[in-house]
Amino acid sequence: MKAYDSLNVTPLLPEALQPLQTLAMNLRWSWRNETHELFRSIDPALWTKTGHNPITLLKSLRASKVQELAQDETFLHRMQQELEDFESYCELDRWFKKNTAGAEDADTTIAYFSMEFGVHQSLPIYSGGLGVLAGDHMKSASDLGVPIIGVGLLYTYGYFKQTLSREGWQQEHYTEHDPQDLAVLPVLDEQGEQLHVSVTYPEQREVLAAVWKADIGRVPLLLLDTNIEANPEDFRVITDRLYGGDAEHRIKQELVLGVAGLRAVQRFCEITGRKQPDVIHMNEGHAGFAGVERMGQLIRTGETFETALAVVRASTLFTTHTPVPAGIDRFDMLLAERYLQGDESGISRLAPGVPVSRALELGKEEDPNRFNMAHLGLRLAQYANGVAKLHGAVSRSMFKDLYPNFDEREVPITSVTNGVHIPTWIRKPMKSIASAMSGNRDLTTANHWNAPDAIGASELWRVRNELRKELVEHSRALSLQSWEDRGAQEAELGWTKNIFNPNALTIGFARRVSTYKRLTLMLQNPERLRRILMNPERPVQFVIAGKAHPADMGGKELLQELIRYADDAGVRDRIIFIPDYNISMAKFLVAGSDVWLNNPIRPQEASGTSGMKAVMNGCLTLSISDGWWDEFRDDEAGWTIPSAVHADPHMRDKWESQALYDILEHEIVPMFYDRDEQGVPQAWVEKIRYSMSQVGPQVAAERMVRDYCKDLYLPAGRTSRIANQLENARAFAQWQSKVKDAWPQVAITEIRNVTGSAQAGSHAQFEATVQLGSLTPEDIRVEAVIGITDEYGELVNPRTVTMDATADGSQFVMDIPVDLPGTFGYTVRVVPHHRLLRSPAELGLVRFPN
Ligand SMILES: *Cc1c(COP(=O)(O)O)cnc(C)c1O
Repeated sequence: MKAYDSLNVTPLLPEALQPLQTLAMNLRWSWRNETHELFRSIDPALWTKTGHNPITLLKSLRASKVQELAQDETFLHRMQQELEDFESYCELDRWFKKNTAGAEDADTTIAYFSMEFGVHQSLPIYSGGLGVLAGDHMKSASDLGVPIIGVGLLYTYGYFKQTLSREGWQQEHYTEHDPQDLAVLPVLDEQGEQLHVSVTYPEQREVLAAVWKADIGRVPLLLLDTNIEANPEDFRVITDRLYGGDAEHRIKQELVLGVAGLRAVQRFCEITGRKQPDVIHMNEGHAGFAGVERMGQLIRTGETFETALAVVRASTLFTTHTPVPAGIDRFDMLLAERYLQGDESGISRLAPGVPVSRALELGKEEDPNRFNMAHLGLRLAQYANGVAKLHGAVSRSMFKDLYPNFDEREVPITSVTNGVHIPTWIRKPMKSIASAMSGNRDLTTANHWNAPDAIGASELWRVRNELRKELVEHSRALSLQSWEDRGAQEAELGWTKNIFNPNALTIGFARRVSTYKRLTLMLQNPERLRRILMNPERPVQFVIAGKAHPADMGGKELLQELIRYADDAGVRDRIIFIPDYNISMAKFLVAGSDVWLNNPIRPQEASGTSGMKAVMNGCLTLSISDGWWDEFRDDEAGWTIPSAVHADPHMRDKWESQALYDILEHEIVPMFYDRDEQGVPQAWVEKIRYSMSQVGPQVAAERMVRDYCKDLYLPAGRTSRIANQLENARAFAQWQSKVKDAWPQVAITEIRNVTGSAQAGSHAQFEATVQLGSLTPEDIRVEAVIGITDEYGELVNPRTVTMDATADGSQFVMDIPVDLPGTFGYTVRVVPHHRLLRSPAELGLVRFPN
């Protein structure tokens, strides 16, 4: 019989159970074990079935179950405790407030834009590392009390679910998600209706986006959704899936994120009486149009393009996440032009007020046919950073052409090394060990882990065994599931019950399948790998997971190559590929593995974060010296695969894989299996202690968010406040144009070394005569640049020292102590100077002696 229609029956939670709803609607439960446990205990089977989603769990409860809970004193007591904990979490003064007390800084607010946020499995708006990083950033900002608001998109289908075909080919599946089943609530406007914001597409078509809010502890995350009835069909699909569709689909999404997203935060602040954000943080270039929109708003109130640009730059931070040029988001110039929509006089209809030609210039690059979102981000932001030290250096080199006339090291792109949110990523059994090592119970303010020996070796090893066992059990179940999905019959699958050995050395490798991450490096010498895996006394097993982007055929081929190897080489019980890598899977993979393998092509991994999650759980690192490991690598904490950067790609892969096998065979395997009488591998445990206590605190998202605050948010907040007093921005814009006009007259006419030859321990004095044309000494800085020189006379990592103007302003003098004997080179340069200029390289103006 066919149903005529459907009827929704949802349970009514009695008053006594209302706190469950409160707890379910704030994602803070996802990093508090006790609340997580509270939900699970309601119905463990249903909990699993809902994919750990308390919203759908509560909706699916039978009336009898609800009644039972409402009378269960123990349950009610636990619930009350969790509610109280949650409330005090939200109220307590935190690091940010304490550290900015009394200062203007205390007022700084930030809007953080990202195409994806990985907060929890039940909020499917992420695909991989970028999203998880954004999620961890929000969580740590909440822990630290940083006044930040997230802005992203609510996707109807999220990212795909992965299964495999019989042949090991990736299959993609999309499920529709109803906002009613997610931890999001509509943002209401002054009339009590769901807030809608809009953005204009070509032919003056207005797209509406509904605004939802997810709460991540104390951080609101605004999510835009075009799948609403008020939109025509072709607009409803704009926010359909993450990273799906063609370039035009992508630019449409980015316009919703940037333009409608900025309008959404502004309206949200208006409605809720919050202060408008001082700082715009663009996590990758996807939200670059937010800056264009902000400029339009300023121009519409009568400001010039230059003033508007000065305001936006003073208040914007751009974070780049890829050192691979091919990874950068670029559009066809004509597409960008079409979406910027010039009217008869060339003024944008997308961001009224902004001349289209000038907006296009902001995104131009070497290829005149391309509009580059990273270049747009850098031109709209005075603050920019990469995500690890090495990545900062690579970014300075990659983008140096945007800052002509200056050395690479002066390119104003700094770095803040990524981190991971410890309470999210540390597995429960490891929590008490980490707490003991750090002396910090909730692990949110763990700066120094001073007590690596707080827990005995056998206890630490017991927990490691427990985590490995958990991984093995999950892997067996998921592997069986995967074989069934691949069409295998139950009768063929007896062997899967015993795959994986809970006592064998387990190596994890899980991340997006992109070429540079080299999933198949381990297959360079298949026979040798086979011998390592099958060693009867000292077996090794690999657990592997990762999705290839649906359009990435090369990635899918790599995946298939790996799966075929596992199937064919008789090692299918030693190499397990688990489909559908996601946050919940990552949690037990990083924790249960003994060694986390990371073998990207150096220096293409900007940071990488899964290895950081592993560290927290006492899993040791085996990595190429790239991304975060290049910075924190330490022979006591793990193993580094030497990289052969300059070799041709084939030789490089061959050498690096050989080094990988050598380290595995000669160092890792023996150390893991070298046991004392109690069966404890003492040397291994020592390494874990070292890695957790020395590396752990450095890779915490808490450290990352503090760094963002100190180095970027607070400085940007200060310049933002100055520039938003518009007379300052106007003066700065006029000053820039004055300096550019006057620069040809600036000259250094003479440099004198007053000291002659200095003795170590004494001082050296220089004087320079500078012609300033129409500029004054306040407009410029005269700098002496001193250091050792290479064989071409180039200064190598020189020191730059500002010279003082004499009373009449034409002479500049400097007196510096010299300690080291030797021969040094020096020169003098003139650069522009203004309080709203962060780096002289921004204007590209510099004068050296002739
Ligand atoms: C942490 C994480 C990543 C990032 O992995 P990398 O090693 O940085 O590439 C990707 N996907 C998921 C689900 C994660 O949890």
